[in-house]
Amino acid sequence: GCGICTKRCPFGAIRIIGLPEELTDDRIVHSYGQNRFRLYGLITPRDGVTGLLGPNGVGKSTIIKALSGEMVLNLNDLTETPDMKKVLDYFSGTELQNYFEKLKNNGIKPIHKPQYVDVLPKVVKGKVGELLKKVDEKGEFEKIINALEISNILDRTFDQLSGGELQRVAIAAACLREGDIYYFDEPTSWLDVKQRFSAAKVIREVAEGKKVVAVEHDLIVLDYLSDYIHIMYGIPSAYGVVTHPRGTRVGINTYLDGFLKEENIRFRKSPIVFEKRPPQDSTNRPLLLDYTDISKKLGDFSLNVNGGQIYQGEVVGILGPNGIGKTTFVKALAGVISPDSGEVTGDVKVSYKPQYISSDFEGTVEDLLMSITAIHTSYYKSEIIKPLALENILDSSVKDLSGGELQRVSIAACLSQDADLYLIDEPSAFLDVEQRLTTSRVIRRMADEKEAAMFVVDHDILFQDYISDRFIVFSGIAGSSGTGSEPLQKRAGANKFLKEMGITFRRDPDTGRPRVNKEGSQRDVYQKEIGEYYYLD
Ligand code: ADP
Ligand code: ADP
Ligand code: MG
Ligand code: MG
Repeated sequence: GCGICTKRCPFGAIRIIGLPEELTDDRIVHSYGQNRFRLYGLITPRDGVTGLLGPNGVGKSTIIKALSGEMVLNLNDLTETPDMKKVLDYFSGTELQNYFEKLKNNGIKPIHKPQYVDVLPKVVKGKVGELLKKVDEKGEFEKIINALEISNILDRTFDQLSGGELQRVAIAAACLREGDIYYFDEPTSWLDVKQRFSAAKVIREVAEGKKVVAVEHDLIVLDYLSDYIHIMYGIPSAYGVVTHPRGTRVGINTYLDGFLKEENIRFRKSPIVFEKRPPQDSTNRPLLLDYTDISKKLGDFSLNVNGGQIYQGEVVGILGPNGIGKTTFVKALAGVISPDSGEVTGDVKVSYKPQYISSDFEGTVEDLLMSITAIHTSYYKSEIIKPLALENILDSSVKDLSGGELQRVSIAACLSQDADLYLIDEPSAFLDVEQRLTTSRVIRRMADEKEAAMFVVDHDILFQDYISDRFIVFSGIAGSSGTGSEPLQKRAGANKFLKEMGITFRRDPDTGRPRVNKEGSQRDVYQKEIGEYYYLD
């Protein structure tokens, strides 16, 4: 272990090599109790957007609550009630002293979009439009509701909103208010790619001449959103450490590398590397299955998908907005629903991870996985248990799992089936940045090793770019009609999708990771002109 706690590392593949010596107890700014979580260090908000990058459970939300004045730091003194005077003393002579002083005297108005928007219906009554008009201190109601595409839900009450709608209403409410510093805690959960970028754009506009702090697990969005990044590391639930600010590009590259040079901390065994060479052609492999054009009507919604061929060992990424039939298509392939027309040929065994996963299994995680395959082999441990960080929850009852835990268990269960075709619907939902990176690696390796094929629906494009050999692109009108393309070569598919999103990519020269070009930049304009949205060369 790392010497910090006596438990098995909840992080699996990620092992911290000791707590750095310089992290003495006087560096603890907050502790949730004896032998509970401790936070080392804090960030100093700056002009522009500061991103917080790190796994779940290392204190990101705690930082936001402290800086927005919703809680007072206890400086690891558990004997007395936290006192702002002590906090001011502690930060004496730093910019944070100044910050907390102003916060105390109401000289700074913080605005906070909380992490958990699904509790909003319990606390907010009335209609969406009425609430947003009430908080519109900037007079930007029309602009914001159009930018976030929520004008069609203004007459609804909060209990009638989906997760993605709640998220966009919460972002709108924060942006409409007049403040000095804005905190956005995980603003893109539940959102599709287009919605993620319109939210990011709105947040960047708020940051003009102001300060914004954002926690974000989608690395392409974080990259687009931030001016600076603080990497956070630690052991979830045990401790978290804030590192010094880095420029966004360097910060994300350092995170992918898994090694903090200045701190001499390795928090992942090996770096995440993106292919810089052109993608391999997966269509010269043996054919696995063939499907004709597929159509399906569900109430007022109609879906049409072009037929295609799928080859052994390939990962087909499915891209497209919410509400246009991606899940319906996957269900048709899985045999969960039967299409109105169209058929699948090829005698294939299918394993399916639904988008909405249920926890109604009687028993532990170990029971569940054991009912599928032998899990106590070294292969299974190194390929599934460790990277998906399941070691510490094997004894947990499936019913008690958190969203992220249930997701990882469901992905493990799906990949443990012996199948020819794996259908994985939105695996990155509820996962933190680190789990997304390790999960993408698990999926990619499985596809390479098995002679199977995988269809993966997901809105995290870094994830998709990493795992996919080809893309199917969906487009249409949410709730009304959707069309799916045939499987397209990676570049052609990415091009088609990015064109619909109105964004262009470039490659980071060091890591090969995709980055979004600034809208209107020379590169952006040029790539749009020649129709190369994915990247040049
Ligand atoms: P993050 O936002 O990085 O996921 P949080 O700041 O929410 O992390 O929480 C950090 C750790 O502190 C978590 O492991 C959580 O268990 C613990 N924690 C958070 N809030 C409380 C609280 N009110 N009481 C006790 N423990 C808490
Ligand atoms: P996606 O996965 O792209 O978000 P879905 O395939 O889940 O989209 O749904 C596409 C559309 O079909 C949605 O507008 C949804 O409301 C509608 N829909 C899904 N299932 C049903 C159903 N059983 N009855 C009527 N409409 C449905
Ligand atoms: Mg949090
Ligand atoms: Mg879906």
